Amino acid sequence: MPPRCLVRGSISVSSTVKDFVLPGQTISSTNLAKYTGGKGANQAVAIARAGAIVDLVGAVGQDGFWVQDELRAAGVGVEGISIAEESTGRAIIQVNELGENAIVLYKGANYASLPVQTIHPDTTYMVFQNEIPLASTVEYLTHAASSQISTVFNPSPMLSPEELKAFPWHQLTWLVVNAGEALELCRALNQEVQDTSKRSAEDVATPLILQLSAYMPTTNILCTLGADGVLANFTLPGGPKITYLPAAKLQGTTRDTTGAGDCFTGYLVAGLMRLEKKHATIDDYVSVLRRCVQAAGMCVEKRGALASIPFAADVDARLN
Ligand code: ADP
Repeated sequence: MPPRCLVRGSISVSSTVKDFVLPGQTISSTNLAKYTGGKGANQAVAIARAGAIVDLVGAVGQDGFWVQDELRAAGVGVEGISIAEESTGRAIIQVNELGENAIVLYKGANYASLPVQTIHPDTTYMVFQNEIPLASTVEYLTHAASSQISTVFNPSPMLSPEELKAFPWHQLTWLVVNAGEALELCRALNQEVQDTSKRSAEDVATPLILQLSAYMPTTNILCTLGADGVLANFTLPGGPKITYLPAAKLQGTTRDTTGAGDCFTGYLVAGLMRLEKKHATIDDYVSVLRRCVQAAGMCVEKRGALASIPFAADVDARLN
């Protein structure tokens, strides 16, 4: 049977505002388009578009049946989505003219309490973000660790310093952070942070990743660097291997970076799921990463989060 992935994560309805709200300012949303989002949903759709089988476990409210339908139509397994009493989570996404984003979240049904569900026996990966109760993430993570299921954690929004210190990092297989999150994580875990001014993104991220690796030596770490690509530290037999990959060359300009990290994570998981059965080498990991940066680059060329996640065939056509 083909391997499956379980995403335990958030599902939200989003609306967008052009530009960032300044103190004292009121701006109107350009629309109240009801489009599906949330990091859990985005990553699940990215995994499906990257060609892997994915089940999403989360919750929406009575107002969210259409969201479930949209996710099903996008190829995501939705049997694990519960209908909660709270209304569906909401995200208001502000996008400025540079394509940067700022996000306001209403937790809603994402914080409904859900008991751990029966896990499909073919599940080889579990994926987590931080838009649901942390206790539920840890519960699933612990279950995965005791069942030889690999795990991927994208701690966004970032956990509090206390939560970071208490998190069972030794159970985690893959950590995915952006540069800001890597810095926050190092500071919270009391790791030494060097002066990060006036150097390239790669130079800045390398000591951060090394510090994090010292703290969680059995976890593979990926640090995405926006337009500067990605830095990875793979825990391979024979010692860790730091690898840098530049970002993909864009066709046109950056339109909207919303969801680029989710797209990257989705393609990462789908790529890793394919490697699972054999003894992966550094070259295998680098080719997975190459596909991730290509997919994430295509994602920033288009507006929207979920709508801009490319399909595997289009990503592979650009790679060849
Ligand atoms: P997040 O969205 O989680 O903050 P990043 O901004 O680091 O994550 O972006 C994730 C990945 O998306 C990057 O590693 C890169 O491959 C791609 N990406 C993001 N911004 C750009 C850009 N302006 N040009 C090309 N690729 C980009």
